Amino acid sequence: MAKRDYYEVLGVGKNATPEELKKAYRKLALQYHPDRNPGDKEAEEKFKEAAEAYDVLSNPDKKARYDQFGHAAFEGGAGGYEGGMNINDIFSQFGDIFGDLFGGSRFGGFSGFGGGQQGRRAATRGTNLRIKVKLTLEEIEKGCEKKIKVQKYVPCKTCGGTGSRNGSYETCPHCHGSGVVTEVRRTILGQMQTQSVCPHCGGEGRIIKDKCRDCNGDGIVRSEEIITINIPAGVYDGMQLSMSGKGNAAPRGGVPGDLIILVEEVPHDLFERQENNLYYNAFITFAQAAMGASIEIPTLSGKVKVKIDAGTPSGKVLRLKGKGLPQVNSYGRGDLLVSVNVWVPKNLSREEKEILAKLDKSPNFQPTPSKQERGFFDKMKDLFN
Ligand SMILES: [Zn+2]
Ligand SMILES: [Zn+2]
Repeated sequence: MAKRDYYEVLGVGKNATPEELKKAYRKLALQYHPDRNPGDKEAEEKFKEAAEAYDVLSNPDKKARYDQFGHAAFEGGAGGYEGGMNINDIFSQFGDIFGDLFGGSRFGGFSGFGGGQQGRRAATRGTNLRIKVKLTLEEIEKGCEKKIKVQKYVPCKTCGGTGSRNGSYETCPHCHGSGVVTEVRRTILGQMQTQSVCPHCGGEGRIIKDKCRDCNGDGIVRSEEIITINIPAGVYDGMQLSMSGKGNAAPRGGVPGDLIILVEEVPHDLFERQENNLYYNAFITFAQAAMGASIEIPTLSGKVKVKIDAGTPSGKVLRLKGKGLPQVNSYGRGDLLVSVNVWVPKNLSREEKEILAKLDKSPNFQPTPSKQERGFFDKMKDLFN
């Protein structure tokens, strides 16, 4: 089968920058990833084709050779591509391709990426630790530091996290010390000889002769720890934050898991939140509505004075720009929307009733709503403007 031009495969020009190449490849790799297209031969070919094109074009040396000789540059001899790229090579590219996308060095979205398991002493990983953190809107507005007591696995002090009582080991009889077992598997990328971690020794190639009594050979023990968490401003209910390496320690000296923090927002007495906007119901007297006034409105960071125009109708919504919540990890800021309500007294004295009855006959007190004031939809528009 004739090979397609590498530039054509990635859909980029000859002068594409490394960033453009990366972006193009990332898109294709996500689209044709085996995990997303199980059993689809065509997707698999496209996936390999894109990986190969990226491998060449992202390497200045290979790119120069390709630009000069085309596919012939890699035919025959070492470094040839006839057999297609090895799946492990493809996945090893992912570290730098997807690292920034998923905010970490480990590629999180797919099961196919099993890197770091070759050879002996494969790193075991501690489990993730999940906790809930309750936050008030005031804390969310500014961001805050929380100290949380957690129960978690930590390395055993007695054995230094090794699990071995006197540091004595013997070679694993199952894998004869290599830490890996080899098997031939049929996968969607064809027959592959794969090495997997020895289940008997967990990849360590050795087993403990005399187990540490405090941790029963696990190298980890349950303990209490106080963790300081920095909560960024603008987080919301249900959001998950993750602190890498702050989860449970791994058995016998592996990589600790992550701490996953679930944000729980405590309902506020005064404000209701919708995304980054806050809503507040303000109550003014009839006299204030009719004659105008300056009133105090609470915000999350202290009170502000707000002018009420003379003749303000009940239900009018005022927008206090930027008095809402900040956008998490960004610059934007929500507003505080104040709904102005005219307070109607529930109990009146006889004198008050007399005065009101007099005022009620005055021509200025008779309702004369404008067309706009009658319109339901105009009022709704008001709410969102
Ligand atoms: Zn121990
Ligand atoms: Zn073994």
